[in-house]
Amino acid sequence: MIHSIRGFNDIYGKESVIFQKLESLLREILKLWNFKEVRLPILEKTELFQRGIGDDTDIVEKEMYTFYDRNGESLTMRPEGTASVVRFLNEHKLYGSDRYLKFFYIGPMFRYERPQKGRLRQFHQAGIEIFGLPHPLAELEGISVLQYILSRIGITDTTFYINSLGCDLCRPGYKEALFSFFDNKEEHLCEDCKRRKIKNPLRLIDCKSTKCQENLEKAPKITDFLCNNCKNHFDELKNLLFLYNISFEENPKIVRGLDYYNRTVFEVHSKSLGAQSALCAGGRYDRLSKDLGGFDLPAFGWAMGIERLISLITDSSDYSEEIDFFVVIIGESAKKEGLTVIDRLRKAGYSVEYDTFFGSVKSQLRRADKLKAKKTIILGEDEIKRGVFILKDMKEGKEEVVEINKLWKGDFVKWSF
Ligand SMILES: [Zn+2]
Ligand SMILES: [Zn+2]
Repeated sequence: MIHSIRGFNDIYGKESVIFQKLESLLREILKLWNFKEVRLPILEKTELFQRGIGDDTDIVEKEMYTFYDRNGESLTMRPEGTASVVRFLNEHKLYGSDRYLKFFYIGPMFRYERPQKGRLRQFHQAGIEIFGLPHPLAELEGISVLQYILSRIGITDTTFYINSLGCDLCRPGYKEALFSFFDNKEEHLCEDCKRRKIKNPLRLIDCKSTKCQENLEKAPKITDFLCNNCKNHFDELKNLLFLYNISFEENPKIVRGLDYYNRTVFEVHSKSLGAQSALCAGGRYDRLSKDLGGFDLPAFGWAMGIERLISLITDSSDYSEEIDFFVVIIGESAKKEGLTVIDRLRKAGYSVEYDTFFGSVKSQLRRADKLKAKKTIILGEDEIKRGVFILKDMKEGKEEVVEINKLWKGDFVKWSF
């Protein structure tokens, strides 16, 4: 037998129902904030992620599914959504006619990570991207919709961390300070950080190794280096969050692993996920579009892991899907009538199932129970002769005799569940 690839899951049963419900809830809520959906391709040119996410990030260094196609072109299965949305926006020249655009996406992403609990190689993300707005109102739009989504799902044990990474004017000073701080602590750094220190000292801040974590307490903090514009932006954002009653904690350790962020970055953590796992993360990335050869376009966005979100849903309701009707057909001469009834009911908007093997009455009723039919229609030769069927309410166990004619008149549409 051939098995699936490690870290690539089949989603079915209860999980599949929760996926559907979550996706419709996301679509419903994002619509209230006027986000438009974009369905992006799963494969992109490798260069998009190398240039977009940054060559010295974990994702590009060691986690991408990259291969050459038959034409010798290097392609990558998308590890995240933002670079693709920026590519899409510029390619279709959407910016210009409208200078304020909001998109969302939901779909699978691919990263070659060590498979462990909560980490898959094919996982799903929902994300939003807001373009054209340099003001922290962009952050407010994105963060307020996120908070509303989490509250509607019922996830409450979250902490919302924010930080500012400054801009091209003030960040170099901070990087320099970081570099000198870590320069005489080389022996206390993990191998990755020894290398990162020279290329991008900011990455040392969110290193997961305990060895490096110990150093960080005394490390210089970015917020002490912000220029006036960045400081004002950050203050204004905090005021806006107060206005919407969104509670947050400032956390200078939040720097995100990606190169493209500037000013605002944030992460939403849940205690149930453990210390290192963010449920959702995002930030402002004003340079990315231009870096990818597109419009000079301020932007803000976030992405959340759907599987992680689902792992937090404590709702214990039974998600197995019910059906409206099960039709029990007894005897050869009832088949024709029975099959017609089934077709009519389905086209009237009811979910209907029947036993295609036409087993005994007992086994048909057992199947009706198993499929959680709300009502069962029993059609035997005797009923057909009398022009009726038996309608059984499976929850209350009550039976009534109904004229088949009523079905054709459309009366059944009034049956409520
Ligand atoms: Zn600045
Ligand atoms: Zn390290």
